[in-house]
Amino acid sequence: MSGNERHVKILILGSGPAGWTAAIYAARANMEPMVIHGPARGGQLMLTTEVENYPGFEHGIMGPKLMEHFEAQAVRFGTRVVETWATEVDLSKRPFTVKTATDGDYTCDALIIATGAEASWLDLPNEARIRDAGGGVSACATCDGAFFKNKELVVVGGGDTAMEEANFLTRYASKVTVVHRRDKLRASKIMADRAQKNPKIAFVWDSAVVDVLDTNGNKKIRAVVLENLKTKQKSEFACGGLFVAIGHKPNTELFTGKLEMNPKGYLVTRGQSTYTNVPGVFACGDVQDAVYRQAVTAAGTGCMAAIDAERWIEANGGH
Ligand code: NDP
Repeated sequence: MSGNERHVKILILGSGPAGWTAAIYAARANMEPMVIHGPARGGQLMLTTEVENYPGFEHGIMGPKLMEHFEAQAVRFGTRVVETWATEVDLSKRPFTVKTATDGDYTCDALIIATGAEASWLDLPNEARIRDAGGGVSACATCDGAFFKNKELVVVGGGDTAMEEANFLTRYASKVTVVHRRDKLRASKIMADRAQKNPKIAFVWDSAVVDVLDTNGNKKIRAVVLENLKTKQKSEFACGGLFVAIGHKPNTELFTGKLEMNPKGYLVTRGQSTYTNVPGVFACGDVQDAVYRQAVTAAGTGCMAAIDAERWIEANGGH
């Protein structure tokens, strides 16, 4: 620290794979970073069970365990960790100021934003209960598809994500049924065509999934309840898994009007870098990535953000 406990060279918002990787790189470069956890410590991997596609773990690793490793590695190199969340940021002058909910204000030379995104859920009575138990409700086919070999699956949504998830899931599933609330897909023509031509994919139109059912509370999905939105008729639809693909929401409320965002609210970064439109402010991970959204890509951009921030401070000087 530069003698002032309230000032850090690199302040990182968020504790998912992007935030911790930025911290590991910044700490090893002697930039004495500080991580403000955010409201959901560890990020989206805390909601998954087994992670089989993070390189280096041949036999897979549980999501929360993986995040423990990330954090421990960042702390080992001297990252300061504050268990609170940011409530306001002032990016209009340097050093930047971050107000926190429970630990006062901090200032920093460079700010790395790694606040992530959240999958949107249907908010059904049994959805979270079965999802959190790893019982067959997911929002990520790439992460969880391989656990559903030869099952009949339901995908909810009519956008590109739903089409991509449905197609991907046919590698494992015996059948995938896409349930969409209208009779017209929102997805791009090419993605819609691909899904509609796939013999393993069926469509149920004008319908919503209104509940998830298990057997005697065992937290393993056995069916969903469908409601035809035109006739209001409800029916049980047996399935071995439910994939919710109704969009993601980036955690960017704090930066509204302060940083450039795309129409979906994702932070915009410049070219192949993590630079935002405000010099000294960098963004990495899912908060700036609507396309790949993987732990390993988030970690990769976290590394980029630390290197970008470090070089930017060297060129522009600290306070
Ligand atoms: P979108 O917002 O494009 O689509 C969301 C879909 O979910 C819509 O069909 C919407 O229905 C439906 N939906 C929303 N809320 C509910 C709800 N509560 N209940 C039931 N259905 C609901 O999100 P995506 O994640 O599909 O795509 C986000 C962006 O990422 C897009 O720009 C997309 O093009 C892009 N993308 C690109 C890919 C690629 O190019 N490979 C892959 C994936 C995404 P309705 O249509 O009625 O509004």
